[in-house]
Amino acid sequence: EMILKTEKLRKSYENGQPVLKDISFTLEKGEVVVVVGPSGCGKSTFLRCLNMLEPIDSGTIQFKDRIIDRGKRDVYEIRQKIGMVFQSYDLFPHKTILGNIILAPLKVQKRDKNEVTAEAEKLLARVGLLDKKDSYPRQLSGGQKQRVAIVRALIMHPEILLLDEITAALDPEMVREVLQVVLELAKDGMTMVIVTHEMEFAKAVADRVLFMDQGVVVEESLPNEFFTSP
Ligand code: ADP
Ligand code: ADP
Repeated sequence: EMILKTEKLRKSYENGQPVLKDISFTLEKGEVVVVVGPSGCGKSTFLRCLNMLEPIDSGTIQFKDRIIDRGKRDVYEIRQKIGMVFQSYDLFPHKTILGNIILAPLKVQKRDKNEVTAEAEKLLARVGLLDKKDSYPRQLSGGQKQRVAIVRALIMHPEILLLDEITAALDPEMVREVLQVVLELAKDGMTMVIVTHEMEFAKAVADRVLFMDQGVVVEESLPNEFFTSP
């Protein structure tokens, strides 16, 4: 069952060469796709286009049965269904952990505060951080902040999660605790597109691996084939 699809997705930045060159890509519901490739090849741009954080030059992006046009309503609605977590956690420093998590569900989704708070606490417990709910971001380690960022994405009830190098800024000892959360999400059937340099993790989590180079998907394979090739 297709959930997200691009056809000939082309993207360039001002005056530049195309960074994405006609990428056609289909994501199935429940699938975990890992995107790898050299720095600067367009991985991050690809995720940002999928989340409609970037305008595209040409081609189409389809979510389920809808070709997304960039009318504002469409973008806001779809962006809620496609969550994204970045390398920098982007938590609001002056808000508590709980405050950071419930902000968007309250403001954007107009949900009930008691309901959202209860769900936030449940999700925090699940990533082992319930005792940090009244702390501020500066009181947390990088790995803890990144787990909060994942919770903040999950509470919106996304149908797809995009993860852009979420462990790249972390000390090695914190990488594992964050990747463990992602592995559990995969086990629960979350549909994800993940950019990572953690190859052992990629092998464990991926249903499919895309190798990108200079804005093109040059190879696509199952994780075992990909990671055993010389
Ligand atoms: P990757 O994630 O694979 O490292 P990126 O998608 O970040 O690659 O970048 C792809 C190319 O697009 C690079 O050449 C980069 O310099 C360029 N680029 C990325 N973001 C911008 C931007 N906002 N404006 C102009 N060029 C950009
Ligand atoms: P504007 O500010 O002019 O409305 P947008 O940011 O909405 O510009 O889009 C910039 C360009 O990218 C437009 O020419 C639009 O046609 C194209 N574009 C953006 N998203 C998509 C998409 N999902 N499918 C097809 N074309 C798109």
